[in-house]
Order: sequence, then structure tokens, then C-alpha cells
Amino acid sequence: MANPSLLILPGDGIGPEVMAEVRKIIDWFGAKRGLVFDVSEDLVGGAAYDVHGVPLSDETMAKAQEADAVLLGAVGGPKYDKLDFSVKPERGLLRLRKEMDLFSNLRPAQCFDALADFSSLKKDIIAGLDIMIVRELTSGVYFGEPRGIFTEGNERVGINTQRYTESEIARVARSAFELARRRGNKVCSMEKANVMESGILWREVVQEVHDKEYPDVELSHMYADNGAMQLVRWPKQFDVIVTDNLFGDVLSDCAAMLTGSLGMLPSASLGAPMANGRPKALYEPVHGSAPDIAGQGKANPIACVLSFAMALRYSFDQGNDADRLEKAVEKVLADGVRTADLMQNAGETPVSTSQMGDAIIAALDASL
Ligand code: NAD
Repeated sequence: MANPSLLILPGDGIGPEVMAEVRKIIDWFGAKRGLVFDVSEDLVGGAAYDVHGVPLSDETMAKAQEADAVLLGAVGGPKYDKLDFSVKPERGLLRLRKEMDLFSNLRPAQCFDALADFSSLKKDIIAGLDIMIVRELTSGVYFGEPRGIFTEGNERVGINTQRYTESEIARVARSAFELARRRGNKVCSMEKANVMESGILWREVVQEVHDKEYPDVELSHMYADNGAMQLVRWPKQFDVIVTDNLFGDVLSDCAAMLTGSLGMLPSASLGAPMANGRPKALYEPVHGSAPDIAGQGKANPIACVLSFAMALRYSFDQGNDADRLEKAVEKVLADGVRTADLMQNAGETPVSTSQMGDAIIAALDASL
């Protein structure tokens, strides 16, 4: 059988720096675990604009549609700030998400014990936290029509429309229930059914999908504003949270920050299954291209490394090796290895991006 294919799009700023460390780890899995990928690399964002005049060429888009998984670094930077909106680096990323129809955005919030002091919450509230927010990514108020700024009488009015079809709600609900079965078997669905009709439909459809297809999974419903409060009061009550695009945008950032640095946060965006049964998938760190530290060897590669761990788990069914990689990261942190963003005390010496990558490889070696 052919090796699974992985398209790598390092992008701009620190993207190529953190991706170089992930390449070492991909090579390690090939050499030491027999997990060989057909890796190809291409351009996205400003890097693609510089060569092709667009932030994602049609050829790269076609490759992304064919790949078993896409791994992206980051896009953007001050050099491109003045470009027309249609060719800004971020448009490349949006095109990937839209044309691959990646409707389910997975954002884990996981607390590594060694970093529990980084949270703004008390250690006992955060230690051992492991939750997953599933955000609907391709519909809702960011896409609904009508939208725009119109004139009504003698003043302007800004309009956006929250719109969800039953099938859009059902497919993201399924994705959350499937995930829950691989984790703690609990889903909490969040909306505002008390004040929004789209929220009423959301609640009904999630309940229907549950009753018909996933009765074994524990389901609860919560208003999204209460959800925000509960996330900072006692986040460990949750396993998987499923919510719409707008609430998911806010709640996933809130949950992610419970656990510390932006340099630690991975994500996955999944679509419908392809002919080979694997979902369309894009894995990327949550952070941007960090122009302030780009090219200095200061970037923390862990968010990108953990994004690859998600690819191992969700695209390639290699849960054990995903665990192995996450444990290697945990060990490195427990040993006190820190990039600059993870430093708390003056006088400590940070490691560079590539030293962090090497430390993770050493921990992987030790796991054999
Ligand atoms: P950013 O995430 O790039 O940086 C915010 C801060 O966090 C900076 O101080 C940066 O140095 C730090 N940081 C981020 N990642 C880090 C890492 N891995 N290690 C250590 N420190 C890290 O956000 P920003 O500054 O608002 O945006 C910079 C550029 O990135 C902009 O052009 C923006 O549009 C783009 N952006 C891209 C994405 C993406 O590619 N998905 C996401 C957000 C922002």
C-alpha cells in the first residue's frame, strides 16, 4: 500500500522555523517507528504571494485536496499588510478551509503539569485539564446573508445573519460525538436557545443526532454565556464542548488561554471523509507568524509539534504514537527545557527553536 501523504505548508515568519522541527520529528517516526509519510512541501501566504502573486496557487490548492492531511505553519507579516484584501496572506488559509469544507474545528485545551503555574487560574483548578472544543467553522454569523453596512433613513446599519441548516448542525454534532467516544464520552453543547431561534434549532438537532446515533455518549446543553463562566470556574467538568462558529471563536480562545502560552496550542480542522475514509484535514498551530521574533531562533515549536500529534491521531489512526509524541513533549517540559515564551524567572536560559526540537527527539528516543 502507498504511504499516506502529508502536504506541508510552512508559510511565513516563524512558520518555516517551527515546521523545520516538525520535519525532524516526522523523519524520526519514519526511521524509528516505520511510519513513513510521502511528504511534499509548498507555499502559502506571503511566501506564495512573493512567487505566484496569490496567497495560494491553484496547483497548491489541488495538492491540498489530494493529500491525506495538510500541516500548516503560519501566514502573514508586516511586509504584506498593505496588500489588497483579496491577496492578503490570510486569504490563502481561508481558501484552504473553504474549498476543503473544513466544518469542524478542534481546539484542545490541555494543561501540562510542568506549566500549571502559567495559568491565571489556581493550580488545582487547572492541573490535569484536558478538554476539547469543537467549533463549527464554515457557517453561522460569519457567513450568513444578508450581511453588510446599509443605510436606513439617515443612519447606517451594520447587519450580519446567524444562519444554520439542520445538516450543518448535525454534521458538526456527529464529529463531536465521535471524538467524545475516543475520550471521556461526554459532550456539552452550547448555544443561546433562550434568545436565538438558531440556538433552539441547534439544541433540537444535537439532541436528535444524539438520541438516534450516539445514545451511549453523555449529552448536556448549556447556554454559551454560562459556558464561559463555567470554563473559568471549573473547566474540568467538561470533556468535549460543541458549539457554533461565533461562540466557538470566543470560547476556544478563552479555554486555550487557561493553559498558558500561545506557543503551546495546536488545532485541527476536519471535513467530510474522503474515498479512503480519512477526513479532509488541516492541522496548524493557533499562533500566527510572530514577526517580532521571526528569524531569531526564539519560536516555540511545540504548538506545531502537537498539531502533528493531532494528525497522527485523527488522520492516520496512530493514537499510540500521538500519545508517545505528547508524552515526549510533557517530559521535556518536566525536565525544565523552556523556549523564551515559557520562561517565568529572570536569569533562566531559554533554549532555541531547534534545541527544543532536539530535546523532543531525545525524549522520543528514550520512549523506545
Ligand atoms: P502571533 O500569534 O503571530 O503573535 C502574538 C504574540 O505571541 C507575539 O508576541 C509572538 O512573538 C508570540 N508568539 C506567537 N507564537 C509563538 C511561538 N510559537 N513561540 C513563541 N512566541 C510566540 O499574532 P499577531 O502578532 O497578532 O499576528 C502576527 C501575524 O500573524 C499577522 O500578520 C497576523 O495576521 C498573522 N496571524 C496568522 C495566523 C495563522 O496563520 N493562523 C493566526 C493569527 C495571526
